[in-house]
Amino acid sequence: MTQMTSEPSVQPAAETKTGLDASRRPYIWVNGSLVPKEEAAISVFDHGLLYGDGIFEGIRVYNGKIFKCQQHMDRLYKCCDQIFIDLAKHVSRQEMIDIQRKCIQANGIVNGYIRLVITRGVGTLGLNPYLCPVPGVVCIADKISLYTPEMYEKGMRVVVAHRPKTPIACLDPRVKTLNYLNNIMAKCEAIHVTQKMGITDPSEQMLEVIMLNTEGKVAEGSGDNIFVVKDGKIITPPSDAGILEGITRKFVKDVLCPACDVEIEERLFELDEIYNADEVFLTGTAAEMIAVREVIEHENLEVAKIHTISEGEGPITKKLRAMFTQVVTSDNVPED
Ligand code: PMP
Repeated sequence: MTQMTSEPSVQPAAETKTGLDASRRPYIWVNGSLVPKEEAAISVFDHGLLYGDGIFEGIRVYNGKIFKCQQHMDRLYKCCDQIFIDLAKHVSRQEMIDIQRKCIQANGIVNGYIRLVITRGVGTLGLNPYLCPVPGVVCIADKISLYTPEMYEKGMRVVVAHRPKTPIACLDPRVKTLNYLNNIMAKCEAIHVTQKMGITDPSEQMLEVIMLNTEGKVAEGSGDNIFVVKDGKIITPPSDAGILEGITRKFVKDVLCPACDVEIEERLFELDEIYNADEVFLTGTAAEMIAVREVIEHENLEVAKIHTISEGEGPITKKLRAMFTQVVTSDNVPED
């Protein structure tokens, strides 16, 4: 269930009109056809698997609408261009949108999550991407729940990662590639600190990190963008800090902040501004919007210092999140 709505996430089988056997859901789109999950497979020679060579997107469905569909398509096709996958030559933007709608319908999704995966395609065991003539296209429409409902109410605890972001000159974090190991290894720091602390309550677990760039500036989380609130004003790192330009981040900046009459600035900052913040929150398609109540520094995976940011969710985060909920539960969920 999404945090943003109590509507049923999946339509009952009787309400779907696809002619597909609902008991075999979820149906997955794999290279041209919709197949039940057990039959959804790609070649072991696909460079997406062999080398993490590909691009992906995570997209929300609210009230049957594909939230910010056009922006996700812009990012998907742009990222493919950046790694020299000519996606439009094989699948047009409209076809890509139709694939998503077919998956939503086949699985009766009303509120859920779409994962689009574009792989380099099948090639040889060498690295050469030009020996992979046709990109692979996978679309999964399902549910997602990253954090517990209590975490949304109380705010979550996050860990400062020692591992920096891959520098832009090596692999630009603005490109949403299938190679997420930099982020995964950073996330493991938080999970390992949690394990060492012996935390078992799911709502107290640390599942997200604050990652810095190699200049020591705050960049983002392993799968979320970061925002700091100080004296009623919001600050978020600019895209050249080495971040993914999140679509939720843009929604916060362009829609929610003006609607809530909150000023927002993009600029570089360091950890001290996080520790001295009135509020900190994270955004992402899967996470939506979530407050950070505690930031933990570690040394060799042992807790070194705990910074309390706020007692629970702060007032500005609350206001913005309420506005978010209002938009995504309305009859006018934006697909632009
Ligand atoms: N940063 C990273 C590294 C991400 O993977 C994501 C997406 N999960 C985000 C930020 C948030 O982007 P969006 O709002 O477009 O989901």
